[in-house]
Parts: sequence; C-alpha cells; structure tokens
Amino acid sequence: MSLVVQKYGGTSVGSVERIQAVAQRVIATAQKGNSLVIVVSAMGKTTDGLVKLAGEISTNPCRREMDMLLSTGEQVSIALLSMALKELGQPAISLTGAQVGIVTEAQYSHARILHIQTERIVRHLNENQVVVVAGFQGISSTEELEITTLGRGGSDTSAVALAASLGADRCEIYTDVPGILTTDPRLVPDAQLMDEITSDEMLELASLGAKVLHPRAVEIARNYGVLLVVLSSWTDQPGTRVVSPMSEPRSLRDLEIARPVTAVEFDLEQAKVALLRVPDCPGVAARLFGEIALQELDVDLIIQSIHEGNTNDIAFTVNKAILKRAEAVAEAIAPGLRSPSTADSQEAEVIVDRNVAKISITGAGMIGHPGIAAQMFTALASAGINIEMISTSEVKVSCVIDAQDCDQAIAILCETFEIRSSAIQLPVLGEEVAVLEKKGNSRKISTSSHLGIPTPKELPPVRGVALDLNQARLAILYVPNRPGMAAQLFGLLAKENISVDMIIQSQRCRVIDGNRTRDIAFTVSQTDAQAAQITLQQAASVLGCGKILLDTEIAKVSIVGAGMVEQPGVATRMFAALAAERINIQMIATSEIKISCVVAKEQGTAALQAIHSAFGLAGSQKIEVRA
Ligand code: ADP
Ligand code: ASP
Ligand code: MG
Repeated sequence: MSLVVQKYGGTSVGSVERIQAVAQRVIATAQKGNSLVIVVSAMGKTTDGLVKLAGEISTNPCRREMDMLLSTGEQVSIALLSMALKELGQPAISLTGAQVGIVTEAQYSHARILHIQTERIVRHLNENQVVVVAGFQGISSTEELEITTLGRGGSDTSAVALAASLGADRCEIYTDVPGILTTDPRLVPDAQLMDEITSDEMLELASLGAKVLHPRAVEIARNYGVLLVVLSSWTDQPGTRVVSPMSEPRSLRDLEIARPVTAVEFDLEQAKVALLRVPDCPGVAARLFGEIALQELDVDLIIQSIHEGNTNDIAFTVNKAILKRAEAVAEAIAPGLRSPSTADSQEAEVIVDRNVAKISITGAGMIGHPGIAAQMFTALASAGINIEMISTSEVKVSCVIDAQDCDQAIAILCETFEIRSSAIQLPVLGEEVAVLEKKGNSRKISTSSHLGIPTPKELPPVRGVALDLNQARLAILYVPNRPGMAAQLFGLLAKENISVDMIIQSQRCRVIDGNRTRDIAFTVSQTDAQAAQITLQQAASVLGCGKILLDTEIAKVSIVGAGMVEQPGVATRMFAALAAERINIQMIATSEIKISCVVAKEQGTAALQAIHSAFGLAGSQKIEVRA
C-alpha cells in the first residue's frame, strides 16, 4: 500500500462534471489500496475572478484582505470534491490549510511554507478517509490563524510540501496537458511530451515561464527527493517524471526557507573575452558565436548588456586553454562589426582578461528569496572585492572577479552562507557533510551530492524552451565602478521584497565627472517594476548613479538543458534562429544549463517558435490542451 498525494489544477476541477470525473479517478486509485491525500485548486478561473472583483473595489487592496479573499476559491472545491467522493460511497473529509496546520511565514500573498502538521491528516487516513486539502493557502501561526496564500500557481507547492512532510511514495500533479512538454503547447502547437526531466532542468524551465509547475514545488521535490509526476486528468497516459538527485536527510522544519544556498563554486581556469561596441542589430551574437562554434570552442558564461546608443557589449568566458583561439576569432570578426550610426562609428574592440576567477553560489532555495544575490554582493563588497561580470539564473549567481581575490571570496561566501569548506579550513558550520568535487582548478563546496543523475553528455543539449511575457527590464545608468555598488542597489530592492532576475553589468566603463561607471541592467516581474524603479530613483543620486530606465515591452526566451554543458555550439544555434527571424537580442544571460535572451515583447512568441524548431524539438504527435 502506498501513500499518494494527488493535486488537481483549476481546469481539472472546473465544473461539476469535472469534479465528478476527478472523484472517479481518486476512487480508482484508492481501490488499488492506496492512501490518498488530494490537493485541489480553485475551480477554473475562480482566482482570476476574485482578483478582478477586488480590483473593482480598490486599486491597491490590502494584502491581508486579498489573501482572505483568494483563499476562498479552494474552499469551494475541497467541499465539492469531498461531497462528490461521498456521493460515490468513498469516505472523505475536506480540510482548509488552517485545519491541517500548513504553517507559513507571516507574509501575505507569497508566503513560504515553514512546516506542516501532519497528525490530523494521518488520523483521517488511518480511518480510511480520503483527505481533501485546500491548495495555495496556509496560516501564519497556529494561534492567530492568519490566512496566507503561497503565490499564484501555489497549489503545486502545497501538494509537494504535503508529500514531503508525509513521506508520501509519490506526488502526482494532474493538469490540462499530458505532462511536461518541450514548450507551452498553446504557443507552439507541435510541442512534444517528455517522459522524464531532471529537477534541475525543470526548476529552470518553471522559473523561466513554463507555468505547468510552480518552481517552488520543484524545489521542494528536489530538496526532499519527492517522486514527482505531471499528468493529464483526462487520460490514463503515464505523463512526465521529474527526477531528483538523492537527497541528504533534511529537517521538515523551515521547509521552504532553510538553506537557500547549498554550494559555493569557483573556477580559476576561466578567462574573459569582451567585445565592446558591437552594433545593436539582429545577427551579431549569431555571427560571433557561430565562428566560435565552428572552431569547436566551448564557451561558458555569455552576457550581453543593455545598449547605449546603437551599440552593445558582449562578454564571454572560456577555459584558458582555448583563450588564444577564442581571442583570435573575436579579433578576426571585430573589424567587420561596425556600427551603422555615424555618432558611434568606431570599430568593435576586443578586450581579454586572463586573471579572472568565476565564483558562484547555487541553491534551489534562492528562488523568490530576493535577498540572496544582494547578500552575495554585500559579502564580496565587505572584503573589498570588485565584481566585473554578474550572471544570474534562478538557482545560481555567478560573479567574475579578479583572480587574486578568489581565496578571499570563497572564504567570505562560505562563511556568509554557512557552507563548510575543508579546502580552506573554515570552522565546521552546520551538520551536513560537505562534498568537495575537485575538477582541476575548479571546485564545488556543497552540502549535497548528485548521485544517480545522468551526466551532461548523456542528456540532450536542450530539453525545453520557455517564454516569459511577465517581465520588465530596468537599467541603472552610470553606476560607479567600485566595490559595494551592486550590493547597495540590490540590497535596497531586497528590502522591498522585490525579486530580481537576470542581472547584467555592462563591460564598458564610461567616465562620468572623472569617475569610471558601468551600467547595470536586470529584469523583474512586471508587478514589481514600478516599485523597483521608484526605490532605485530615490537612491540613485545619493549613490552617485544616473538615470533609471524602465522597459515593460520585453519578452524573455530561454532554452534549458543539462546536456548543454560541454557541448559547443548550443548558444549559436539559438542566436542564429533569432537572427534568421530578424529578431534583435537586447540582453543575453547564461548559466550552465540555460541561455536566456531578452527580445521585444511583440517578437516573443515568434522567438519561442523559431528556437523550438531550431533545436528539433517539434514532434508529430498532436498534444491535447483542455480549455
Ligand atoms: P493547473 O491549473 O492544472 O495548475 P496551469 O495552467 O497552471 O494548470 O499549468 C498548465 C499549463 O501550463 C498548460 O495548459 C500549458 O499551457 C502551460 N505550459 C507552459 N509551459 C509548458 C510546458 N513546458 N509543458 C506543459 N505545459 C506548459
Ligand atoms: N488558485 C490559485 C491560482 O489560481 C492556486 C493554483 O491554482 O495553484 O493561482
Ligand atoms: Mg498551475
């Protein structure tokens, strides 16, 4: 007999008939001898309807009352599903988040789960009842019973957190598509179903716009080794398995907030190549990285910052062993890259820096924790370390710094994030076993191992493609080029609880009033964009920065695949696909397993389709999407 947690999304319980169909499915699973906890979302588009209602009363409704309102949607569906089950002869009981004891942070609208009291659920399960729990909601304390919600799409997170807390055998997420697909089938009709995906890949995809799973649900599954399956509530197809590395035993207290950073990594084998003043028009990145791929040179980080005037800077890092060849390619193509504008008609310039180190912090727990990147920048600043390049993904922040500063950076980051480092003999911090993976001159100091997960070479270079239309881009001009600036700027945003995505710092230094300055651009969720702009505007003059520019007409397209590590040419294919459609790339940011490009919003869907087809992800099997 297994303990199974099943979650049914809004469309799956969108009508009386659907609720009855779900009840049949639940009973079929129970009759196979399984104990069942069912998590449900609000019916259909109920939550959207509630948000709209609130908007008709107030332009800025109080967050507490919003949570009070939004949590009602799920209360309707748990009651109806329990009735439907009982009607069919299956003993069942519905429970709200408060009745279960799903305890969250005291943070309305996007609370993270701290722990789940399982006693009551277990008692009902032992009485052979199916327990139907309201997704998306919790309480901030068991005394005050303040209702909190987990953020839109948060029922997935409720389900996986329940599975982890109950030690369930598996967690099944039932939705309106047959599983996890190579991309959103509503935008790309020939998207294909995958049998399996690693939790690392899914974490990136979910964070980059694939809303089939709430990223925090993937994070919990990964941290606690929950077997997670995504499947259709209309068919009996097996769906997609999300596979996680073997997890170290982990406390069920502070479930979503313990240890946001699990590893500090450094790499002294890298060198930086920057091309300054390349024209801001389609095809430039494709040409540069196309040449580099032709030489079979493997590029690590790539960043392209916002443009000033009609030119961009593109910087990338490569292993020192191939630096000469990469530099030669850049030098060879630079003369041909002349900006068409008369004002900026200088040739592109190539700059090479051998004395760099890449230092990164990683951890699934940094998703939605606005302060983590700022904490890293602050730690580096406190040691007087200047940051030359920043590249972020949802689960990793990498900084390129002077190689001389590397030891000090490792020490301060291990201390800040409580990562034990036997390499530098820090005092023992925490109880986890530190795993030290040595790879030449690069190392990873972490608290978990990745046993049982396929190595990059066994994985396809690109697993999935995602589009995020809910982002805005902000740029801070003329940021003084000295340690501590990124720390201060992103610290301010963190204080306002604003999560920052894709941070990119320009390569070129401009001299303003005798000071060297750089521009920093980043993306945030559109809902936070105005607040971020106001916060930064208030601080800009005090900090000596220039204007804050906001652009809401952007789209972010990303490719994700654990197999892209050590496979040259992946970036080029993406850039070439965009160039072929005459789509201009405004920003580029990469991490080991993803490449994201910011393009104009109106070109977002075309960009997604072009990239999906360029990587041969299209299938001939017709995917059904339920309305
Ligand atoms: P639910 O209400 O069941 O939680 P969601 O609407 O939150 O469902 O998520 C399912 C939707 O996610 C699909 O209908 C699809 O349009 C969208 N989606 C985006 N990217 C993907 C992807 N890579 N694979 C599957 N579905 C995706
Ligand atoms: N009902 C909530 C929403 O629409 C939670 C969920 O469906 O996961 O966001
Ligand atoms: Mg959902």
